[in-house]
Amino acid sequence: QVRVRFAPSPTGNLHVGGARTALFNYLFARSKGGKFVLRIEDTDLERSTKESEEAVLQDLSWLGLDWDEGPGVGGDYGPYRQSERNSLYKQYADKLLESGHVYRCFCSNEELEKMKEIAKLKQLPPVYTGKWATATDAEVQKELEKGTPYTYRFRVPKDGSLKISDLIRGEVSWNLDTLGDFVIMRSNGQPVYNFCVTVDDATMAISHVIRAEEHLPNTLRQALIYKALGFSMPYFAHVSLILAPDRSKLSKRHGATSVGQFREMGYLPQAMVNYLALLGWGDGTENEFFTLKQLVEKFTIERVNKSGAIFDSTKLRWMNGQHLRAIPSNELTKLIGERWKSTGILTESKGPINLLEQEAIQLLKDGIDLVPDSDKALSNLLSYPLRDTLTSSEGKSIVEDNLSEVAAHLLAAYDGGELLAALEEGHAGWQKWVKGFGKTLKRKGKSLFMPLRVLLTGKLHGPDMGASILLIHKAGTHGIVSPRAE
Ligand code: GLU
Repeated sequence: QVRVRFAPSPTGNLHVGGARTALFNYLFARSKGGKFVLRIEDTDLERSTKESEEAVLQDLSWLGLDWDEGPGVGGDYGPYRQSERNSLYKQYADKLLESGHVYRCFCSNEELEKMKEIAKLKQLPPVYTGKWATATDAEVQKELEKGTPYTYRFRVPKDGSLKISDLIRGEVSWNLDTLGDFVIMRSNGQPVYNFCVTVDDATMAISHVIRAEEHLPNTLRQALIYKALGFSMPYFAHVSLILAPDRSKLSKRHGATSVGQFREMGYLPQAMVNYLALLGWGDGTENEFFTLKQLVEKFTIERVNKSGAIFDSTKLRWMNGQHLRAIPSNELTKLIGERWKSTGILTESKGPINLLEQEAIQLLKDGIDLVPDSDKALSNLLSYPLRDTLTSSEGKSIVEDNLSEVAAHLLAAYDGGELLAALEEGHAGWQKWVKGFGKTLKRKGKSLFMPLRVLLTGKLHGPDMGASILLIHKAGTHGIVSPRAE
């Protein structure tokens, strides 16, 4: 059975890189009918916080990446926090001590420092050269009796190499001669990170380890521990880094990098998920728009790219616009309408406010990418900066193009009440009126619509003119619409 895990360290916010790793694990599990496990790697007690754990869980839930086992849901392989698994680590460390894969190392910090200095002088790799790798039982016994503190040190085979086959990178191999015996448990009994991860992945029956490329050096140590414990190794898949547009490692100086920041900026979870999936994956076609469900159907690990993926926030914004426009109109009305109500940007006026909202949103959604952008779009539509418009260079050319002729007739239509009567009849009324108006003036196309747009909306450009004017009329802003007002 496929069992994968996402294993965040709760030392900060969920970064887009971590979110992508979680997503790939989720997609892999769901596409294979497997399990998606969440494990909290809080071995670093100083830096791990409960708040960070909660924030990470909240971000994952927001993205829709629900886990089958882990904090909050339990499961047969718990506990799912490393800080609650210490006795298990101790048990396996002792097993390795018994089998001779691990030895007790009584070296003091000073001795270890000295070893490093000597290696540096001789330009050798900084590997452990102390005596405890080959000490006799009697020597060990003597230190134990004295109560000298000791670490558990893993005995690395002195020559040869180690190979894993990675589902993304192909064969990866290391020479073992520069690795050196490494500590798996500190003298205070605290197991080290690589050891915990191995014991956890093995005892949680993880079948595939999908994680960031930067963990490759850990994989070497973990693979040695797997072998020593006699566990069969999982499949590994190391996903490439996420890079900034300048191809450096993505970091805070490039702008928002955490999932929470994007949520606060008004990004939609479905857009976030879609964009993250495209960072190193594609279905092999031109198509870039995917829902989470479609991603589950299409995702294969073979299609994950091994070169670095560029994080392009402009593209993410564009992607958000695609998803925003894909929201069914009643849901979008609810989403944006609630926002407008709370900001007071659209107040009760002539028409029923819900209808106004719906029309405004349909009119404006093509011009916005983020939900919060709708505020500015609406107030812009309802504002009437006629003077600015007329004094702009484009505006001036329209003035020259007989604006005054159109204005005079429009004023007459307004004063005579025909225009308002037409607007009361809605779209059909407006269309009929505009047609007759054009006929009288012997104008059509641009020479009719540009001056009308300027006079009625105060602007040179905007969404569909008829719909805009009807909305402005209903919203009752600038009185509708006295061309005399300016
Ligand atoms: N806790 C590690 C991290 O947050 C993940 C380790 C792993 O996936 O093996 O980077």
